[in-house]
Amino acid sequence: MAEETIFSKIIRREIPSEIVYQDELVTAFRDISPKAPSHIVIVPNVLIPTVNDVTAEHEAALGRMFTAAAKIAEQEGIAEDGFRLIINCNRHGGQEVYHLHMHLLGGKALGPLVS
Ligand code: 5GP
Repeated sequence: MAEETIFSKIIRREIPSEIVYQDELVTAFRDISPKAPSHIVIVPNVLIPTVNDVTAEHEAALGRMFTAAAKIAEQEGIAEDGFRLIINCNRHGGQEVYHLHMHLLGGKALGPLVS
């Protein structure tokens, strides 16, 4: 059984965060340390530690992450200009929180993907 992270507490609203979207499959909230004017973290409500742990039973939640991203981009007013979606996996990917999540970044022109 994977160990819970701070994101499980955010999903259950046990610790404060600015939740911008939530449904039965996913939760999205503003990143505590934003790297762009709009920086939203989108997570499945179920704990999946990394992309390596994804199975077919997670497909509905993973698909919903994209539907939510599109809705949130619209909500944030960044859909037309564009935005970036990033999922980090493990050490080389720069993952810090081991609850799979997608970063939605926008509100300005972003630089190169990898530095
Ligand atoms: P990672 O590097 O794992 O892909 O990204 C984790 C992200 O979660 C980071 O951008 C970090 O700022 C954000 N984060 C970590 N702890 C918290 C928290 O307690 N609240 C919020 N809102 N974001 C967090």
